[in-house]
Amino acid sequence: MDRSRFAPTTSGPAHPGTLVAALLCWLDARSRGASIGLRLEDIDPTRCTSLRAHELRDALAWFGLDWDDESRQSDHLPAHERALDRLAAQHELYPCDCSRSEVKRVGLRAADGGYRYPGSCRAQPLPAAGWRSCDSALRFRLEPGWIAPPDESGLDLAQDPAAAMGDPVLRRRDGAVAYQLAVVVDDAEQAVTRIVRGRDLAPSTAIQVMLQRSLGLATPAYRHHLLLLEEQGGKFAKLHGAVGWRELREHYSPERLCGFLARVVGLTESTDETSPRELVADFDWARISRDDALIRWRDGELSCLGYRPAETEPGVS
Ligand SMILES: [Zn+2]
Repeated sequence: MDRSRFAPTTSGPAHPGTLVAALLCWLDARSRGASIGLRLEDIDPTRCTSLRAHELRDALAWFGLDWDDESRQSDHLPAHERALDRLAAQHELYPCDCSRSEVKRVGLRAADGGYRYPGSCRAQPLPAAGWRSCDSALRFRLEPGWIAPPDESGLDLAQDPAAAMGDPVLRRRDGAVAYQLAVVVDDAEQAVTRIVRGRDLAPSTAIQVMLQRSLGLATPAYRHHLLLLEEQGGKFAKLHGAVGWRELREHYSPERLCGFLARVVGLTESTDETSPRELVADFDWARISRDDALIRWRDGELSCLGYRPAETEPGVS
């Protein structure tokens, strides 16, 4: 049986984009009879709090989503450390003390819009006492080469991650395990076979597949979907700060919000009130918009201003 998961980072309140991502992931699983877990990604100590994790969970329940199981990424630390042990034994980890501004100064752009690490510290060995004794950040040595993970939505995920992204940090200087490693290890530990997530994460897929290969893990099926965007200073950005769940629920019932979001993504013809459960029977990816939706929050009301084709492809650097 297929197994899926919704894995939000617990660094802020649920916003309409979080709820759309959760809804699409949940509908995909429920309509296929797959099991689906909620995994709260709470391992960044500088951004995640237990209060935020609770609130995110409450928001998803309020919206009408349920899960076959729930977990917290912070409970999986021993598995993350075992993965680092293995990569260290395979000589695929190295320490790096470069600051963010040093990486930025070199000026190589990454496929995800950030800056690519130029590989300055690649020749540095780990301390003889092992990676645990190291105070530096630890990076994963990517082998050059193209890989092309399939995407069910037809998105081109082909990338040479070494050239497009550069060696990723797997354990930060403050000791926190980084997203790229945690997500790969947790998906394997939880026997996840399907990953449905927003297109903003598409540029990370190739690196995650490389990590799976190094760790001897299976690669799940991937499907990336549209994003909700908002206008910020003349540019379009992923809808984030516009409105959080606490404010949203003062103006919307879950059914009215679900009706609006279902219409925006293309699932329904009208914004009539509905619920995730009512949408399962007719769910079909063919009806979901491929273009990102432009959303505006004003005077307690959400509106959809139109659609925009996705701007970036993972291979672009
Ligand atoms: Zn470095």
